[in-house]
Amino acid sequence: MRRGKVWIVGAGPGDPELITVKGLRVLREADVVVYDRLVHPALLREARSGAELIYVGKAPGRHTMTQDEINRLLVEKALEGKRVVRLKGGDPYVFGRGEEECAYVLEHGVDCEVVPGVTSATAVPAYAGIPVTSRWMASSFAVVTGMEAAGKERPRVDYARIASAVDTVVVLMGVSRLEYIASRMAEARGPETPAALIEKGTLPEQRVVVSTLGGIARAAREAGVEPPAVLVVGDVVKLRDRLWRLR
Ligand code: SAH
Repeated sequence: MRRGKVWIVGAGPGDPELITVKGLRVLREADVVVYDRLVHPALLREARSGAELIYVGKAPGRHTMTQDEINRLLVEKALEGKRVVRLKGGDPYVFGRGEEECAYVLEHGVDCEVVPGVTSATAVPAYAGIPVTSRWMASSFAVVTGMEAAGKERPRVDYARIASAVDTVVVLMGVSRLEYIASRMAEARGPETPAALIEKGTLPEQRVVVSTLGGIARAAREAGVEPPAVLVVGDVVKLRDRLWRLR
């Protein structure tokens, strides 16, 4: 029997055209597609008719399948001789647990390849008219998580320290802890520092809330911003005035 293989594929941040050429090719060739919540339905229509589509999405706090079950599923399908595409939002190695899945698959004697994707960390700000670097304003950026793995002894993200070390800070998964994150960063950079929160970026429903570190939590609450959303902090937010165009 032909031996299967697993491809860990980045689907891009939302707009289905932001998948890579290679990602689209392996998706079209797949026998099994195991996909997440943030994957656009249009991409699933690219799979062969007859391909098995398996949803393993996780809404915040609610899991359809545990990570262990997902890992085992990938190996099981590959051992049946199938070409398995594990389709994940953005880039699979940016807060996507793609590395855990790939390591598990390899440890079980199955071939695994990663196909990087366009991460929401840079693409979502870009679609909102915010570049994460700029020759004049920002020579560095950091991407940090707003949530951390449960059970860590102490938080590893020191938002104040990061905000003082880099010009632009991009926070993923930060909506539920926005108030805390913004106030820690304001200690380092001041409450007047520009900040933007982009909800459902790169999609037709995209919404952008522009404020400052001091005002963003309240502005987000008033606008009713919900995940998925990206927080961008730094002077580059001001470039939106010149780069944004209405679509
Ligand atoms: N691997 C993904 C990130 C997974 S963590 C990537 O590289 O993009 C999930 C977080 O990504 C969300 O909580 C949100 O902060 C961000 N995100 C993903 N898609 C998004 C979108 N279309 N709009 C805004 N934020 C998004």
